[in-house]
Amino acid sequence: MNIINAVDHRYVPAWGNKKQYVAIHYLGVVGQNNRIQPGGYGAHYYIYWDGTIYQAAGHDAVLWQVGSAGYYTQKHPKANNYNCIGIEMCAKCDGNAGDAADPTWYFTTETQEACIQLVKRLMSELGIAADHVLRHYDIVNKRCPAPYVNNNRYRTSWTWDEFKAKLEGGKDYMFTCRQIGVGDQGNDVLLAEEILSARGIYKGALDKSFGGQLDTAVRFYQRDQKLAEDGICGPATWNSMIAL
Ligand SMILES: [Zn+2]
Repeated sequence: MNIINAVDHRYVPAWGNKKQYVAIHYLGVVGQNNRIQPGGYGAHYYIYWDGTIYQAAGHDAVLWQVGSAGYYTQKHPKANNYNCIGIEMCAKCDGNAGDAADPTWYFTTETQEACIQLVKRLMSELGIAADHVLRHYDIVNKRCPAPYVNNNRYRTSWTWDEFKAKLEGGKDYMFTCRQIGVGDQGNDVLLAEEILSARGIYKGALDKSFGGQLDTAVRFYQRDQKLAEDGICGPATWNSMIAL
């Protein structure tokens, strides 16, 4: 997957995005050239018809993308501009592109496949679960992205359920571990024990039980890697341990 750097922070309205959700949009006009908006007006990523991905803003940027704008009604209890990473998918329309309810809006296969790859990468990097991948329409009552609200499989479009199923399908190679700390048990704990043991940091038993020795080892590792030292294996620590 190739992401082209088009980051432009001139108009970013706020910083400190909590990065807990992914919001999927469609560019509500037909066309793709010159549609990337400088960070602040649109989304963090834009995906063209041929599947090329452009990044328009860094993940810490808070962009005006899923707010109510005093017009839409908030539907989701938690997702908002301050915790969403946004993706704009370029779309095509055979009918009236001025109407989001037109039944002929569709995405190319290339755009959808690139979007799956991008979302999987964001889920893995940021520790975002599949149920935190939302349509703009799930956050406020805006008909966006139209092809995944219409769900009529027009031309090459998938339904939203099909899109979500493809995210789940990658679980065997896209590894997501749960957050663990002292007192936790299970295979995630065993994995942390094995990784830190292989690096000579953890000397305790491989017993699937998160005890004091593992806590000390995790903290040592976090200090060594300049991560927040809290003894908890969360997304940042897992990504660091598994990526190295
Ligand atoms: Zn939208």
